[in-house]
Amino acid sequence: RQTTRFQCRVARQSTGPVIRAERSYVMIKPDGVQRGLVGEIITRFERKGFQLKGLKLFQTPEDLAKEHYKDLASKPFYGKLVDYIISGPVVAMIWEGDGVVASARKLIGATNPLAAEPGTIRGDFAVEVGRNVVHGSDSPENGEREIGLWFEETEVVEWTRDMTPWLKE
Ligand code: ADP
Repeated sequence: RQTTRFQCRVARQSTGPVIRAERSYVMIKPDGVQRGLVGEIITRFERKGFQLKGLKLFQTPEDLAKEHYKDLASKPFYGKLVDYIISGPVVAMIWEGDGVVASARKLIGATNPLAAEPGTIRGDFAVEVGRNVVHGSDSPENGEREIGLWFEETEVVEWTRDMTPWLKE
């Protein structure tokens, strides 16, 4: 294993069992991109102390939007939800860190922005459940499922962050 200061390597398939850090799939939805909130939202995850492992601006194919939200397929708003997600580019991200899934949900705020606390992304920047700016996985298992849906393995970047000793004992 290389120990260069600016180490940056592509994730490889491991042969043995891997205990990997928790990851969340976080997505800035088309309204967040159109409204110029990309930097603001990324900043909130960065300054909290999570590590960015994947990032892309992406025009979502309809099939992927349907698959991502397949658990909501029976809901009356499912069709509109899929149309919304494919209505413009999204910013797809992988954030990694201890407890990142639950913490990201707290940073994002309640599904309905009117119920979301001020200080959360939805509480600060949104008013309607159908335009709630950002997505975050609801469990570590779904995080891995969603990362598998939205990212190729070669798009996941393993890198060592020099900031870590200042965040963790
Ligand atoms: P969350 O995104 O907070 O995990 P859900 O998984 O319940 O929430 O819903 C997924 C997404 O579906 C929401 O973020 C929102 O964009 C949309 N949605 C949920 N409920 C409604 C609703 N009643 N009307 C329109 N869109 C909705």
